[in-house]
Amino acid sequence: MSDEKFSVQKSEQEWAAELTPQQYRVLRQHGTERPGTSPLNDEKRPGTFRCAACGQPLFAADTKYESCSGWPSFFAPLEGSVGTRSDSSLFMTRTEVHCSRCGGHLGHVFPDGPRPTGLRFCMNGVALAFAPAEDKG
Ligand SMILES: [Zn+2]
Repeated sequence: MSDEKFSVQKSEQEWAAELTPQQYRVLRQHGTERPGTSPLNDEKRPGTFRCAACGQPLFAADTKYESCSGWPSFFAPLEGSVGTRSDSSLFMTRTEVHCSRCGGHLGHVFPDGPRPTGLRFCMNGVALAFAPAEDKG
């Protein structure tokens, strides 16, 4: 179904060596972290959320909002940064979200987000790495 090509391609052994076990389980095996466990839930500084696997910038901090789901949530990704595909696991159809550069699984997108997009990108914090904006003061 998907013929996406990812510019960053590594073997599963290489990913397993580079990522923490928790990152590997989410990014490469479509795992889901326990809600409320990510320190990024409370991250409110300006900056950029990057893919924890390949470093691609995925979300700007000003698109993050408090969804009270227990996972970091955003209403829009940076342009071209993520891909989606239909996911029919767990007896329901959801839309899976992954990094467009390395294919790493990030989370899911739901149609119950705030304006302007109406979308909720529900991300696993362990799949993200936060880079604070440079303090120009
Ligand atoms: Zn990536």
